[in-house]
Amino acid sequence: MAKQRILITGAAGFLGSHLCDRFIREGYHVIGMDNLITGEMKNIQHLFPLPEFEFYHHDVSKYVHVPGPLHYILHFASPASPIDYLKIPIQTLKVGSLGTHNLLGLARSKGSRILVASTSEVYGDPTVHPQTEEYYGNVNPVGPRGVYDEAKRFQEAMTMAYHTYHKLDTRIVRIFNTYGPRMRLNDGRVLPAFIGQALRGEDLTVFGDGSQTRSFCYVDDLIEGIYRLLMSDYPMPVNIGNPDEITILDFAKEIIRLTGTQQKIVFKPLPKDDPMQRQPDITKARKLLNWEPKVSRSEGLRITYEYFKTLTQDELYQRDHKNFDSYSR
Ligand code: UDP
Repeated sequence: MAKQRILITGAAGFLGSHLCDRFIREGYHVIGMDNLITGEMKNIQHLFPLPEFEFYHHDVSKYVHVPGPLHYILHFASPASPIDYLKIPIQTLKVGSLGTHNLLGLARSKGSRILVASTSEVYGDPTVHPQTEEYYGNVNPVGPRGVYDEAKRFQEAMTMAYHTYHKLDTRIVRIFNTYGPRMRLNDGRVLPAFIGQALRGEDLTVFGDGSQTRSFCYVDDLIEGIYRLLMSDYPMPVNIGNPDEITILDFAKEIIRLTGTQQKIVFKPLPKDDPMQRQPDITKARKLLNWEPKVSRSEGLRITYEYFKTLTQDELYQRDHKNFDSYSR
């Protein structure tokens, strides 16, 4: 029997590449798509010899064409770290809005089920804690994070509109902070930042006084949650994340213990609109998907540290090899 075909956008990114691996393992024909603006070919190069994998170098903000049948679409293309979307704000807005529109149109023409990657950032700097799917959020549309947050909020609205008016089969996952192998060392996010600093023998930079909290989910747990949501029949947004919350200062101390670095913690100014607290309420995922995270932070951090230790010296010291200027705004 012919394999079911799935399109994964953002395929060369951190989450996209893990999704490609998972769906290949599940027996699908995977069509990866990425414009490589923040993604890395090395994340998917191991898939290129496989006949059940193909790759399109394409920007989904432009019209998307895929020949042949398509049973599923996963829209995971987007810059996702604050320093990236500060550098490429317009592309961030376009991929969440125009890109989503193109993929919804593609899903409609092919009769595919589509799952879009939303984010805990739709809750902004939340005044409700932990965050349930019913909370509408506290987002500054014109702040530095606004380009990401509003693109993702628009994406949810557009996806629901296609669901309601075109009866499209849609899923929305709200992803909380996730970590694991294949994160970009210099993407500015806290875990690669701290581990990179430890490996280079630099001090760990805590922004603000470190009392802000995050809740970190190991990538394999997240992928399992997304897989179950895709296979469910639930069209409303579902939080997927690990509720195990920690302050950033305590997180820095955990990384110091993990890596055995002799360096100290230094404090830097807190970036504008940096959320003070974040923790997913995963009641819905537990009930609807019978899902909850299984990997503890100590176990997940150990695996992730092992991955970062395999990077070359060049990769470790390359500050930012991404040339965002070559992409159209
Ligand atoms: N952060 C930090 N030092 C760093 C990088 C980040 O203290 O070198 C803080 C950042 O201010 C935020 C938290 O860590 O409060 C998580 O940041 P990240 O960029 O990983 O994700 P997000 O803010 O989008 O959750």
